Amino acid sequence: MNCAMCGIRACKNGIENTPKNCPSTDEDINNIKDLYRTDENYTIAKVSTKLSPQQGKTRIEETMDFARECGYKKIGLAFCNALANEAKIIDKVFTYNGFETESVICKVGGISRETVDLEATSNTMCNPIVQAKFLNKAKTDLNVVIGLCVGHDSLFIKYSEAPVTVLAVKDKVLAHNPLGAIYMADKYYKNKLFPPKE
Ligand code: SF4
Repeated sequence: MNCAMCGIRACKNGIENTPKNCPSTDEDINNIKDLYRTDENYTIAKVSTKLSPQQGKTRIEETMDFARECGYKKIGLAFCNALANEAKIIDKVFTYNGFETESVICKVGGISRETVDLEATSNTMCNPIVQAKFLNKAKTDLNVVIGLCVGHDSLFIKYSEAPVTVLAVKDKVLAHNPLGAIYMADKYYKNKLFPPKE
């Protein structure tokens, strides 16, 4: 599969004139499609498909629209310590707009880096599995990731029982806008992203 390098994008309008090795022609698609008819998948897919063409809304507005239309009332906020100020504002936005929130910081439990056989420092290790398990215990309807580290987010998503959406991704250099590097991939970031090979 190599959709990223396809210049045809026939799938946008159906499956006519697809290129060679196009995954759109795989017969498994019809069986997999049935999964959209199951309870929670049906609601999430229908609401997100209905809302996705709308223009002019910020990500947090879209997140609230999505939650409202899915009937989600209790929102879990899994946030990074480095974005604690942002999490406070996000919490206020959700509650002001009628949602109930539960929030858990990445450093919950204050566990040592020795847990994963790394040298202990004054900084405790992030604890995404507990973030997920505690939000599971609180029976949140939808969990929102706010700037969890790469990999910690993977573990959070792995253990979250509620569906997860990402409001913010952390980028320590680019003001949490990782696409900034991509937009500059053939200019200022070229040597970093495509380091010259021997
Ligand atoms: S599914 Fe087929 S047509 Fe669509 S982007 Fe991938 S290769 Fe191209």
